[in-house]
Amino acid sequence: MAISIKVVLHFPRHLMNQPIIYHLARHYDVEFNILKASITPQEEGVLVMELKGEQKDYEGGIKYLTDSGVEVHPLSRNVARDEDKCTHCGVCVAVCPVGALILDPATRRVDFCESKCIACELCIKACPPRAMKVCL
Ligand code: SF4
Ligand code: SF4
Repeated sequence: MAISIKVVLHFPRHLMNQPIIYHLARHYDVEFNILKASITPQEEGVLVMELKGEQKDYEGGIKYLTDSGVEVHPLSRNVARDEDKCTHCGVCVAVCPVGALILDPATRRVDFCESKCIACELCIKACPPRAMKVCL
């Protein structure tokens, strides 16, 4: 059965220069489409990808990624902001691919529009005080 799933991949710093995506393409029969690529201030990599293929090939590719030390999450969880922790520094504004985090020039505060958020998690690792979080 063919499937198509959007996932978020987190690459720790020590994997940043490794040819992991090259090996995924070469050794697993999984089509992928990179929707967003970003490097956090902590120099970790985040990729949002759509993966398509037969279920067994998809599972093999995901196993290869996780065995390599890449964190893989489905693009389906809710993301929320801890208002007490947010310092409105603006770092997250640049990484959000859908404009869900917007700097209001009048107030100098960052507004979070939850209805636009696609839960890609790019802001979570980018946020210095870890104000953005996943809600299960
Ligand atoms: S990066 Fe974090 S602290 Fe800074 S504005 Fe965004 S949510 Fe707030
Ligand atoms: S999780 Fe939501 S708010 Fe954060 S970067 Fe992704 S889309 Fe933007």
